[in-house]
Amino acid sequence: MSVRESLLSSVAPIAAGELLVVADEATRKLVAHHISMLAMQASHAESAERAASIVSEKASILDCVIVDVGLAGLDAWSLLRQFRQEPETAMIPVMVILGRPPSEADSLKLIEAGVMDHLVKPLNATLVCAKVKAVAERSRMQRELKNKLRLALEYSAHDALTGLFNRRYFERRLREEAAHAKRHKRPFSLILVDIDHFKLVNDTYGHEDGDRVLCHVAELLGGSLREDDIACRFGGEEFIILLRATPGPAARVVANRLRSEVAAKGITLGAKEEMRHVTLSGGVAAADERNNYDVDNIVDRADKALYRAKRGGRNRVEME
Ligand code: GH3
Ligand code: MG
Ligand code: MG
Repeated sequence: MSVRESLLSSVAPIAAGELLVVADEATRKLVAHHISMLAMQASHAESAERAASIVSEKASILDCVIVDVGLAGLDAWSLLRQFRQEPETAMIPVMVILGRPPSEADSLKLIEAGVMDHLVKPLNATLVCAKVKAVAERSRMQRELKNKLRLALEYSAHDALTGLFNRRYFERRLREEAAHAKRHKRPFSLILVDIDHFKLVNDTYGHEDGDRVLCHVAELLGGSLREDDIACRFGGEEFIILLRATPGPAARVVANRLRSEVAAKGITLGAKEEMRHVTLSGGVAAADERNNYDVDNIVDRADKALYRAKRGGRNRVEME
């Protein structure tokens, strides 16, 4: 599975929405009966504690909470306040069941509590069904939107071709890591790699196969690192890897391992499906105890080391 494919498959589909009814058993049964055609899963709570625990457990899939304000022993208003105060639960739509039609003062109280809608006893089947449906649909759309936003944020950190992190994301993580290195004396390293004679791949097999080689190398780089390491496409045929909590000599070992893995694993190119091997040159720079956690110009330092690797004959790794 390519890096890009695994990124896509990690996106969970929107789960079917659920409902929570905070009421006595008789009212819960009635609501369940009235909304049976909506085919929504419904949980039930008869106390504030139980309601709060279901809400926090199911916050991401609840499309509506219905609270009977007349439920014996329940302080419905403080329960609603509690929902509003928690960022995870503040957006869950709440409907209340009232014992009588609301007065103007009641209506204001409902608005202040962030209640979306209300039902009045005795419950009317058509109204219950229509109101729950409307609220749940809005809520589902909101969850979908949230999911899309999360996806968009995820993609904005990734390179479209290879699925690795992009340069902008790398620069943000580098700033964070540099701050930690200085403050906490925590080492980190960079490995800058560049595919050797890549122009020749494009010239011989065309740009599309060139792109396939980029994905092939990206997959090998991304697939053989620790969870904590951040592999990025730095630009063109250059990749940069940020190795957290790793001093220079250890990063050099990693760089050489990556280099030999890429050199060993071929890829078929062109109409004749020729097996070809590409090689990498790498430059390593570190902020560690040997240079007193020096983060200044660390990318330039890795680039200079990379330049020496190129000058030294390619398919090799040099350290700053
Ligand atoms: P060296 O060993 O010195 O690194 O030689 P090189 O041929 O790899 O380096 P050079 O800088 O001469 O060429 C890099 C080539 O990479 C040129 C450019 O067209 C190509 N390239 C950059 N980005 C992409 C891309 O996204 N896809 C493809 N197919 N080619 C790209
Ligand atoms: Mg280059
Ligand atoms: Mg190159």
